[in-house]
Amino acid sequence: MTYRYIYGPVPSRRLGRSLGISTIPDKTCNKSCIYCMLGRTDHPTVVRQEFFPLQDILGELKDALKHITPPPDYISIVGNGEPTLYLRLGDLIREIRHLTSIPVAVITNGVLLSDPAVCADLAEADIVLTSFNAPTDALFHRIDRPCAGITFDAVRQGLIAYSRMQRQGQLWVEMMLLEGINDSPAVLQELHWLLQEVGPDRVFVDTPIRPPAEPFVRPVGSEKLAEAEGILGSVQLSGSDFEAFTVDAGVDPVDTLTSICKRHPMREDQVIALLRRSGIDPYPVLNKLCADPRFRVERYGGSTFYLAHDENRRVD
Ligand code: SF4
Repeated sequence: MTYRYIYGPVPSRRLGRSLGISTIPDKTCNKSCIYCMLGRTDHPTVVRQEFFPLQDILGELKDALKHITPPPDYISIVGNGEPTLYLRLGDLIREIRHLTSIPVAVITNGVLLSDPAVCADLAEADIVLTSFNAPTDALFHRIDRPCAGITFDAVRQGLIAYSRMQRQGQLWVEMMLLEGINDSPAVLQELHWLLQEVGPDRVFVDTPIRPPAEPFVRPVGSEKLAEAEGILGSVQLSGSDFEAFTVDAGVDPVDTLTSICKRHPMREDQVIALLRRSGIDPYPVLNKLCADPRFRVERYGGSTFYLAHDENRRVD
């Protein structure tokens, strides 16, 4: 079944088998991170809106939950931009709670943690995973490229305030490590001190393994990830999301790959491995992907990636 707002379940290195909800038109965000795998932000905004009717999103979710077996490990509110820009985020989380006991995660860039209304919405989630890539204003602007008026200090204070408020679930923080930009021991140590003020339940370090918005962005190697892990006391995430994932019986593999590749560009070898694990000859499917106008093929770090177009991309 193809949905507009619901996708997956997709494999997630942090959340297992995760059913995604995208409440934001494609690339609508309050940042334009240099490493973003969705490309540059073409609709920057700091204004929260009900971009799509809440009832339409819930209608799709109800239907998806009836058909997906086994149930996903998490429902993730992610979006193809920044999900806290969805004005009815709190209502959405509360309505999901009425529908199912599956835990709800929100993956955010953390900018709007400086807004008490957003914090109140997020406090309803089981997990809030926020990114935090830099310990200084200069590095924050270089990496995250926020909309005008967003300051590092406000984001830092927002994160600290959220960590101290009464809330339902856990706070996880993730740092994206970029070669030659934020991977020095001094930067990592500063970030560690800052995170001590926050006291997150878990800290992750990751590095871009998919084509980034800017071609000069490079991933760090495994030694640097291990060094960061040591300094931050964190868990490494680099590696494949897709190792345990298969195409469900009776489902068109192109539909499954479209759903994944809209949010998670896949390396060609990952596509081939996934299809083989599912008992499907990969090469006819790869030929179909190359001929399908929804797909785009890109080279990054010596590998070939498959990316899918999202129908929620704005046309204005
Ligand atoms: S990585 Fe997230 S926060 Fe950064 S530009 Fe992309 S969608 Fe926005």
